[in-house]
Amino acid sequence: MQPKNPIIGLCQQASFLTSAARVEQCPVDEGYEVAFAGRSNAGKSSALNTLTRASLARTSKTPGRTQLLNFFNLDEERRLVDLPGYGYAKVPIPLKLHWQRHLEAYLGSRNSLMGLVLMMDIRHPLTPFDCLMLDWAAANQMPMHILLTKADKLTFGAGKAALLKTQKDIQQKWGDTASIQLFSSTKRIGIDEAQLVLASWLQLLEPSDDADDEDDEDFSDEADDTLDD
Ligand code: GDP
Repeated sequence: MQPKNPIIGLCQQASFLTSAARVEQCPVDEGYEVAFAGRSNAGKSSALNTLTRASLARTSKTPGRTQLLNFFNLDEERRLVDLPGYGYAKVPIPLKLHWQRHLEAYLGSRNSLMGLVLMMDIRHPLTPFDCLMLDWAAANQMPMHILLTKADKLTFGAGKAALLKTQKDIQQKWGDTASIQLFSSTKRIGIDEAQLVLASWLQLLEPSDDADDEDDEDFSDEADDTLDD
């Protein structure tokens, strides 16, 4: 039976929490966080808005907030993070370096970060920015899920071929670091699949109750805590 995805209800109450220009300004590192990354124009804002059914990403595009990590609360212990989408040729090098440094500091230090969603335009996958993010995810064993955005720009067959090719290229270079799917905000392709990944990373999907009940008889609360850690 298909479970009703609890992420949908949570996203409807999502609200802007804070912006951080550097790691020290991030919210307390507790609970669960999923971060969204993508080269500028990859369709990150559209994907974030489509997946959450809210206009979250508009906040990130208001002047003054484009260079920052923007945090959105889903509930007291779950957050989404919109990472700066650097990659425009127009951006001056020092600013790019500033973003890169702080992005890496955030990625490398954040305990509550459960996974990274990387948006790539299906017509231009694996840009240098994407490869950097894949390098980082592989080196840090961080779960990554890739959305091949704007899939509506290709025919079904061409989209499927692009998916398979990108999947193969990634597997060859980075092994099983990332899962990947087709996505389109415009044509609403791949939304359920992506929402399921978010729900899983944000610990919103209950393991099978039956299996839990059997095990619970043999484990104290302390033992369960140890397993969770
Ligand atoms: P960001 O810079 O990565 O946040 O990208 P945006 O979400 O702002 O999108 C960049 C451009 O791509 C905009 O003109 C969007 O309208 C367009 N776009 C985004 N998602 C889609 C999509 O699924 N299909 C199509 N055809 N265009 C899209």
